[in-house]
Amino acid sequence: MTDTQIIKGKVKTVFTTSEPDKVLIQYEDKVTAGNGRKVDFPIGKGRVCMQISEFLFKKLEDRGIRTHYISTIPERIMSCKKVDIVPIEVVVRNVAAGSLCRQTYIEEGSSLNPPLVEFYLKDDLKDDPLLTTDRMERMGYTEMLYSELRSSAIKVNDILADIFDRIELTLVDFKLEYGHDSNGNLCLADELSPDSMRLWKRGTSESCDKDLFRKDKGDIVEVYNQIFDKLNNLP
Ligand code: UDP
Repeated sequence: MTDTQIIKGKVKTVFTTSEPDKVLIQYEDKVTAGNGRKVDFPIGKGRVCMQISEFLFKKLEDRGIRTHYISTIPERIMSCKKVDIVPIEVVVRNVAAGSLCRQTYIEEGSSLNPPLVEFYLKDDLKDDPLLTTDRMERMGYTEMLYSELRSSAIKVNDILADIFDRIELTLVDFKLEYGHDSNGNLCLADELSPDSMRLWKRGTSESCDKDLFRKDKGDIVEVYNQIFDKLNNLP
């Protein structure tokens, strides 16, 4: 394992393995906000984010969404297909919140039906700017990739919104990342946890996600564990 490569992300570390098509992703006990400007190291956070991600990746795979998930290794390492990440963050919004309300006159809490699907450039140095379809085209992304990302994200939204509704949470918005595997297939990658989504207690705007950390409003590990327990106990 001397030639293992390590890629450190903000809250996850990716290790290459002796198998060229496989990586190990370690979920760290770390949380960041504001593009890394706010940081904390809550014990147990890596494990619960991995558990929720594993649960959701499996549900999506069951429903025909191709993902990078392979298996998990106790207690916070996920074995995944190695993918070439598409440097585009796909955000789906069911309810207006966050940057959408900061950047427009759309009021927080307004329902967005049909859901709004947005594309952002995955580049922290540029502060992840919002992309337009024309910009994506000029950057060399095909219309086919655009359509594939969009239709997959809408399908993921339908599945996840239904799962969270069953534990009385509203899926307000979330961010997805995709990559191509060694066969050129588009796979859902990264993580699926309350770190990259907004979840409100149904019928309220009470956060059960990373906004608790962003706004110093509560213990994310406790809340994330409650979410995982509820998901795990779903019939
Ligand atoms: N998001 C994310 N990583 C990012 C940007 C956004 O996980 O780099 C998630 C965020 O948690 C929220 C959704 O995508 O669930 C929409 O985020 P928004 O554009 O509203 O930005 P924010 O208000 O979080 O800065």
